[in-house]
Amino acid sequence: MEKISDILIIGGGAAGLACAVSASNIFKNLSITIAERMPKVGKKILVTGNGRCNLSNVNMSEKFYHGTVDVGSLISEFSDIRPFMGELGLFTYTDGAGRIYPLSNTAASVNDALRFAVRERGVEVITDCDCTQIRKNGGCFSVSTSCGEIKAKAVVLACGGASARVHGSNGSGFTLAESMGLELNRPYPALCPLTAEGTKGLEGLRAGCKAELVQNGKTTAAERGEVQFTKSGLSGICIFNLSACFNKENSLIKLDLAPEYSISELKDMLFSAAEARRGCEVQDCFTGIFSRQLALYLLKRSGISLSKNCSELSENEIKSFAETAKGLSFKITGRSDFASAQVTAGGVKGSETDFDFMTKKVKGLFLCGEILDVWGDCGGYNLHFAFASGIKAGKSAACFVNGSS
Ligand SMILES: Cc1cc2nc3c(=O)[nH]c(=O)nc-3n(C[C@H](O)[C@H](O)[C@H](O)COP(=O)(O)OP(=O)(O)OC[C@H]3O[C@@H](n4cnc5c(N)ncnc54)[C@H](O)[C@@H]3O)c2cc1C
Repeated sequence: MEKISDILIIGGGAAGLACAVSASNIFKNLSITIAERMPKVGKKILVTGNGRCNLSNVNMSEKFYHGTVDVGSLISEFSDIRPFMGELGLFTYTDGAGRIYPLSNTAASVNDALRFAVRERGVEVITDCDCTQIRKNGGCFSVSTSCGEIKAKAVVLACGGASARVHGSNGSGFTLAESMGLELNRPYPALCPLTAEGTKGLEGLRAGCKAELVQNGKTTAAERGEVQFTKSGLSGICIFNLSACFNKENSLIKLDLAPEYSISELKDMLFSAAEARRGCEVQDCFTGIFSRQLALYLLKRSGISLSKNCSELSENEIKSFAETAKGLSFKITGRSDFASAQVTAGGVKGSETDFDFMTKKVKGLFLCGEILDVWGDCGGYNLHFAFASGIKAGKSAACFVNGSS
């Protein structure tokens, strides 16, 4: 099969679908093709936000983004993604933390809104179509795919990063970008669990905390939220956000498991619990403050013998328990791999594109979404960037093809 299209979008994820909608909104007569390597578009959208899709956030600012792409002007142009989604028939609600979700509470609604919009606008979607090579001859691109050759006047790389490859993006976009002479900052997993020593006995437990990343003795980042203990380390949104700041050996995660209380308030609570449960075994002493599993772990980490009775706890032991609960440290051994990462940090350098997302080196070649060296905090910022950059790149590609850029 050989196809000719005005715009070829490689990747039918959040960025690629938004790009196609936006390009066809600008000039209705353009032929637009999406080539997607998976059997369906938007596979990753379906798993976002635990299946609920946290698609954006009302607290939008460039301070929530990291990497070499200057997101300032994009964020001020597209500070609110809801009007775009509203035009596609998608209604949303905002939770107490400012996170925006579809009103249906189902990620499939977001994917439906995009894929129906693409279909209605006459965009051709070719699935099971892996793009493997791009060449440019004169003003025309030739893209080799598993479904044959596709020629286009403009190409948009919307291939995502290398995280969660089971949902589609497998890092091949980076190879395509490099083959066109674009420079990358080394991709690495971000928003991912951290592997740590010492979590045995806590597997499966979740606890509210303040988590600090301590590198070479200095606190370099801190988050409030819920930590999840796993067999191999620490997970949860607060850990995800800290994971991208982890870059040095000699790192610890320090957890304050009673962040609402000062150390002396916690000590008072522990003393009164020990008094109230004088006749109980020590392992039953603090279950009115911490979960049994956590209380048991903290007793062991504080060096308190489990054969004791609550009435036998010394003042020093209670003090040591309080200090352990307010400063429980785990040595970090690394980040988990791309497979369990929500996003890829690194990617095509921000200096490679103009503010309209066309590459400076190759006229007619555009980039959007996670392939770029930018990632956002948890809270809807990554999908927001994917949608906003997709909309911008789509508009720019349409204007480029129409000779009006
Ligand atoms: C479990 C999980 C939960 C998440 N939850 C949230 C959340 O709630 N909120 C949030 O903001 N972000 C969330 N994210 C991050 C968010 O999903 C991504 O940042 C976003 O999907 C990136 O969009 P994208 O279109 O750039 O890339 P992708 O969504 O990865 O899409 C890229 C597409 O390109 C296709 N492709 C790649 N290479 C080729 C090729 N060579 N040829 C053809 N097709 C190709 C892929 O198959 C894929 O469909 C989550 C991520 C994960 C993994």
